[in-house]
Amino acid sequence: MSIKIFLKPGKEKSLNRFHLWVFSGAIQYKEGNPEDGDVVEVLTSDKKFIARGHYQNGSIMVRILTFKDEPINIEFWVRRLTEAVALRKAIGLLGDKNTNVFRVFHGEGDHCPGLVIDNYNNTLVVQTHSIGMLRQVGEIAEALKKVWGKSLVGIFTKGDQTLKQKENTGDLKKVLFGEVGETGVMENGHKFKVDILEGQKTGFFIDQRDNRFLLEKYSKGKNVMNLFGYTGGFSVYALGGGASEVHTIDVSAKAVEQANANIALNNYKGKHEGITADAFEFFKQLPLDYDIMVLDPPAFAKHQGALANAREAYRRLNKLAFDTIKPGGIIFTFSCSQVITKDIFRTAVFSAAAQSGRTVRILHQLTQPADHPVNLFHPETEYLKGLVLYVE
Ligand code: SAH
Repeated sequence: MSIKIFLKPGKEKSLNRFHLWVFSGAIQYKEGNPEDGDVVEVLTSDKKFIARGHYQNGSIMVRILTFKDEPINIEFWVRRLTEAVALRKAIGLLGDKNTNVFRVFHGEGDHCPGLVIDNYNNTLVVQTHSIGMLRQVGEIAEALKKVWGKSLVGIFTKGDQTLKQKENTGDLKKVLFGEVGETGVMENGHKFKVDILEGQKTGFFIDQRDNRFLLEKYSKGKNVMNLFGYTGGFSVYALGGGASEVHTIDVSAKAVEQANANIALNNYKGKHEGITADAFEFFKQLPLDYDIMVLDPPAFAKHQGALANAREAYRRLNKLAFDTIKPGGIIFTFSCSQVITKDIFRTAVFSAAAQSGRTVRILHQLTQPADHPVNLFHPETEYLKGLVLYVE
């Protein structure tokens, strides 16, 4: 017997508009004792089928997978993945000679909460953010083999660390197919080595591809600071664009080591130095002499409760940049916290600029690339915000 979740009267409205989360407050009663990760049916108060999704006790209780009355099986995943691949083909990423690293599946942006899949030169990394997805990863891998076909090299899965306590899964990392290790990839013609097994997220910050490309255009002859540089994504592009000198700063010594290796791999002319340091401390090493600064911190706010502190951290960081950048300098500043909206971020940057007394103009307003599509019905899918600023 299938497990059923009945909504309170009127609470089907957001689902009628294809939003993908059912909050605990919307639920009237449950039939059949659901456990975390179960596939459940969602019904209106007058008992009409409305959607099917993954149950998980918490503030988001059901993550919707489909609004059709269809089973969630390998065929379902084949259809979903085929649609996702079609989008990547439509935007020209699949088969691009210069780029073989991109996101294949972007959670709610591809209509399935909790599932992220990234492609690293035909090694696919499946990251699960819900218990339902974690449990289904075997079926998803089978479907991926069918959809990706002969060029598939390997499939690796990484569960979100927060799932570990809940599900008692032991190791969340597993090779599901083929051989998986350090992988060489190409992005817009630049070469990178990606540590899929141990790296952050699925190994690389794929969502900054278009923004790194823009930095490349501005870098000729410049001194560039890449703060929170991780494995040197922005740094490689800056040197490729002819920067005279680039500094990659990250608190992780391992990331800095990998950044150095990525720079060496590309063999561009300008100078590079990798520096292991805390970003806020680094600003104390005055005088700083940068024409361009890239500020790409980790999400300062991971949930609503952390919003006020995060806003303050963005203000403080950007103030340090405004206080020290050369006249006529350019700042690329980002926030990847989903709860920090475009307006909140812009206000934090505005406060920082006002306090520093510099005259600042916005050159570009940046966001995530097309392989991280925003689901119009689920605005929470829009998370990456960036401003490119000209500082007089
Ligand atoms: N710009 C990078 C991604 C940055 S991710 C890219 O394009 O690939 C954020 C990075 O900030 C991580 O590598 C993390 O190690 C680093 N980090 C976190 N806190 C930090 C701090 N206080 N000072 C410096 N780096 C920090």
